[in-house]
Amino acid sequence: MTEAAEPIDLRSDTVTRPSPAMRRAMAEAPVGDDQYGEDPSVNRLQQRIAALLGKEAALFVPSGTMANQIALKLLTRPGDEVLAGEDAHMIWHEAGAGAANSGVQFTPVGRGGLFTADAFRAAIKPRGHIVWPPTALVAIENTHNLGGGRVWPQADIVAICKAARDAGIATYLDGARLFNASVASGAALADLAQPFDLVSVALSKGLGCPVGSVIAGSAADIARAARARRMFGGAMRQSGILAAAGLYALDHHLPQLAADHANARLIAEQLAAIPGILRDLATVETNIVVFRLADGLPDAASVVARAGAAGVLVSALGARTVRAVTHRDVSHADCARAAERLAEILRSAGG
Ligand SMILES: *Cc1c(COP(=O)(O)O)cnc(C)c1O
Repeated sequence: MTEAAEPIDLRSDTVTRPSPAMRRAMAEAPVGDDQYGEDPSVNRLQQRIAALLGKEAALFVPSGTMANQIALKLLTRPGDEVLAGEDAHMIWHEAGAGAANSGVQFTPVGRGGLFTADAFRAAIKPRGHIVWPPTALVAIENTHNLGGGRVWPQADIVAICKAARDAGIATYLDGARLFNASVASGAALADLAQPFDLVSVALSKGLGCPVGSVIAGSAADIARAARARRMFGGAMRQSGILAAAGLYALDHHLPQLAADHANARLIAEQLAAIPGILRDLATVETNIVVFRLADGLPDAASVVARAGAAGVLVSALGARTVRAVTHRDVSHADCARAAERLAEILRSAGG
């Protein structure tokens, strides 16, 4: 084989590495002790993201998981119920932290990560019932990761958040990929964030930063969030080194997310043409391609292994579900090559 040794890594948009220019921005960042509120780079990033999201204040945190855990801590009490889309990150990918840290139980609503206001209203358990866990919070993921990077219809979000407010239920947007949702839909970040009490965004996904998420909301909630961050061990010191990567990415990487979306579509179009690949092209709106393998095709683990041997890294989401994620460290040509190799593997296997 004369192929390049470096595989095309489509496992996640978290695999992106800081570019030389981003590393320079980090090295040169003015810093101070953030626990005294004295890190100018952290303060700038927080102000900038608060403004982008149309919220009063924001807080830099080490991970999206910690942002989610802070939101649960602020907006629920032990014994409360949290309603979230099926396959939500909070339910599946946080090691049981919601139960361990905040004592909440999750109930999934709807299918494929999305749900309607009617489904939400039907799922609400009122406070004061003698046996039910009261619904304290509704959490929405936009875009929805395991749902294939779907962008939520904003009208549904507005209706759900209004119903929540009417019922005294708090609202949280897990916007780990909200930048993708904004670029794909053309909607302003502040409009997407407006209906929610608290909103988080990730810097370490498509924006290509090495570390960090930001959680935004009212000044009072963000003051409480700073205490929760401390409690969870996520309070940092000269974290301006990390925040500087975020500032750099907002200037230089955010406008480029559309290229990732085009690359995902390129992969989806190739795969959709293969018999036995169950894929609704219309659902590939951002940088995630989730495809299901019909009976008769090999299972996800074997497709992942064969693709890996052919230099294409993808991940198995379930027994017959595979995910490919595009990002700034894979080019259009890489994605075209990856799509061809995946197609070859699936065609030869399908017979
Ligand atoms: C990646 C992700 C997170 C947070 O992940 P971390 O690895 O903790 O930064 C949260 N929610 C969603 C939907 C995600 O995709």
